[in-house]
Amino acid sequence: MEDRFHIVKLWQEQDPESIIQKYKDDVVAINCNMSHKISYKLMSALPSLELIATFSVGFDHIDLDAAKARGIKVTNTPDILCQETADTGLALLLATAKRVAEGDMFVRVGKWLSGELPLGTSLANKTIGIVGLGGIGTKVAKRCEAFEMTVVYYGPREKDTPYRYYDDITTMAQDCDMMILTCPGGEETANLIDANILEALGPKGILINIARGSVVDEPALVHALQNDIIAGAGLDVYFNEPHVPEELISMDNVVLLPHIGSATLETRIMMGQLVIDNILAHFDGRELLTEVKI
Ligand code: NAP
Repeated sequence: MEDRFHIVKLWQEQDPESIIQKYKDDVVAINCNMSHKISYKLMSALPSLELIATFSVGFDHIDLDAAKARGIKVTNTPDILCQETADTGLALLLATAKRVAEGDMFVRVGKWLSGELPLGTSLANKTIGIVGLGGIGTKVAKRCEAFEMTVVYYGPREKDTPYRYYDDITTMAQDCDMMILTCPGGEETANLIDANILEALGPKGILINIARGSVVDEPALVHALQNDIIAGAGLDVYFNEPHVPEELISMDNVVLLPHIGSATLETRIMMGQLVIDNILAHFDGRELLTEVKI
């Protein structure tokens, strides 16, 4: 990229605001990830901005209405991270059900010398409810089938799959043992998993979130875990990252990851290349590879 463009590395700057001011008339593209809010205010400050290329499949951190109003194109990195993120979901599901993180600590601190780890929960013959059967959800479904689970799903539209579809998430939560979130973040799914859904999932239920923190009412989740309203949770994402509620940190029945859904070297290289390919396509006047349709 440096052969072709002047790159302003905002993350290395002590005072990013003053750098934005310095280059504001020259910035033609932004490369961001989901932890950078790309707001109306930022776009307004950059009159030459043509493209926002995010290093993520999710784009809830970008004000799409503002981009559309200005004719700014947006690209993301779909498909190539689905397998990786689904694997992370399964890692969390297994870790939570089989007490992997708790067991690791049990050995390390010497508790095994004087006792047994409480029993875990089987995946086989259980029903898992997938919230959002898209790219990642479909890969999760395949993996859960391999673990001999029954797969069901909820989403805005029924898909052409053998899995049972629910148009009502509460009914699905009542009918399943475990639930995994693989839907987009943003306003439409904000607090989709609230106290009622957690209650419906029930005291043996496990919730896995590899979607976005905003999809879960976090205080309601803490309350549900503290009061045995559900059995456990495996979380990769949080409402206010990188801040994780203190209550969750102190719970044994919760597995916490630092938003690493797609974070392997192989997948991150593919994502980076796709970001670059989109930027080059735009400035070469070619069709964008993975444009977000606004
Ligand atoms: P995708 O292919 O667009 O799939 C999203 C699915 O969610 C679609 O099936 C969609 O249904 C469904 N959906 C939309 N609105 C919904 C709603 N209100 N309730 C329930 N389901 C809804 O996207 P993807 O590649 O699978 O990624 C999904 C999300 O995962 C991303 O947006 C991102 O936030 C998150 N993610 C997280 C990580 C991580 O590191 N933890 C990594 C990658 C992605 P339709 O098909 O019917 O529209």
